[in-house]
Amino acid sequence: MTIPFFDGHNDTLLKLMEAKGDRATLFIEGMPEVDIDLPRAKAAGMAGGFFAMFPPPLKDTVATTPNYSKGELPPELGLADAQASTMAMMGCALQIERAGGMAICRSAAEIDAAGESGTLAAVLHIEGAEAIDTDFNALEVLYAAGLRSIGLVWSRANTYASGVPFRFPSDAEIGPGLSDAGKALVRSCNGMGVMIDLSHLNAAGFRDVAAISDKPLVATHSNVHAICAHSRNLMAWQLAAIAESGGIVGVNYATGFLRPDGQWLKNTEIEIMVRHVDALVAALGEDGVALGSDFDGAMLPAPIGDVTGVPKLLQALLDKGYGDELVRKIAMDNWRNMIARTIG
Ligand code: ZN
Repeated sequence: MTIPFFDGHNDTLLKLMEAKGDRATLFIEGMPEVDIDLPRAKAAGMAGGFFAMFPPPLKDTVATTPNYSKGELPPELGLADAQASTMAMMGCALQIERAGGMAICRSAAEIDAAGESGTLAAVLHIEGAEAIDTDFNALEVLYAAGLRSIGLVWSRANTYASGVPFRFPSDAEIGPGLSDAGKALVRSCNGMGVMIDLSHLNAAGFRDVAAISDKPLVATHSNVHAICAHSRNLMAWQLAAIAESGGIVGVNYATGFLRPDGQWLKNTEIEIMVRHVDALVAALGEDGVALGSDFDGAMLPAPIGDVTGVPKLLQALLDKGYGDELVRKIAMDNWRNMIARTIG
C-alpha cells in the first residue's frame, strides 16, 4: 500500500524554469530529466511538498564561481536578478496550478483539501531572501501570490543573514548573525504566518532566529552533524534548540550531507538515511522528524533516484521496526501539523 508523503524541499521549479517548452505541460505530462513530475509524484504517493524558488548564482564568470573546496561563498546576488528568477519560478508554479497540476496551498486546511481532491499540494518557499527589498514590498506581493515559507539565506550572504559555505568537515560557526533587517524580516514573517527555514543558515544566524522567533524552529532539509560533519548539518545544540521549540527537521537525501565521509557519491545506501532518521527521532521525538529530499537540487543516492524512490525509504523505516503510525507521521502528518502551527 502506498503511504502518502509530504516533502520539505525540492528545486523542481528551478529545473522547470530552465526547461524549454510549455513548462506546465512538461510537469503534468512528465519530464524525465527532473526528479519530480506529476505522473511520478502520483505513482510514488507524493501528496505535496515545499516547492523552492531558488534564485541561482549568476553563471559563467570567474568572479561568480566560488572555490567550494576552499569553502568560499558565492558572491551576493542583486535584488533585480533575484526578483527576475523568482518571478519566473513563481509564474511557472501558477501556470501549473492553472492547468490543474498542483494546488498552491496557503494553510494546512488547503493541504487537506488538496489531498481530498487528489491534487498535488505545493507550499511556495524562497531559498534565500534576495528577492525581498528591505521595505518588504516584495514580501507583500509574494505573500499575496502564495508564498508561505522563507529561508533567509542559501549558502551565501545577503542583506538579511549569512549562509554556511559547502565545507566538510566543518561546523556552522562561520560568519555574522542576522542584520537588523534580518531580525525585522523574521518578526514580519511570524506575524504574517510565513514559516522561517533554518537550513543553510550559519550558527550565529540560527541563534538569532531562535531568540527572536515565536514559532517552532524548522530546518526543512538538513541532517545530523554527528553522523556527517558537513557545515550544512545540525549540531547537537541546534537539534536541542529545535526540540525545545517543538520544531522539526526534514531529512535531506543529498549524499554529501548523509555520508560520514562527506563524499558526493550516487553509490550510497538507504541505510545511512535511516541512521540520520534514527538520530533525528532520538533528538527531536516522533513529532519532530520529516522528509526534506532536496530533489532536483543535489546528488541523491542511486537507490532513491527520483521521487519514485521515496517509498523505498519509508519501507526501510518499516523494516527497521518503525511502526506504521510513526512512518506515516514522518512521511506526512508531521509536516502537515507543523504547517498548521507556523503558517496556519
Ligand atoms: Zn538547499
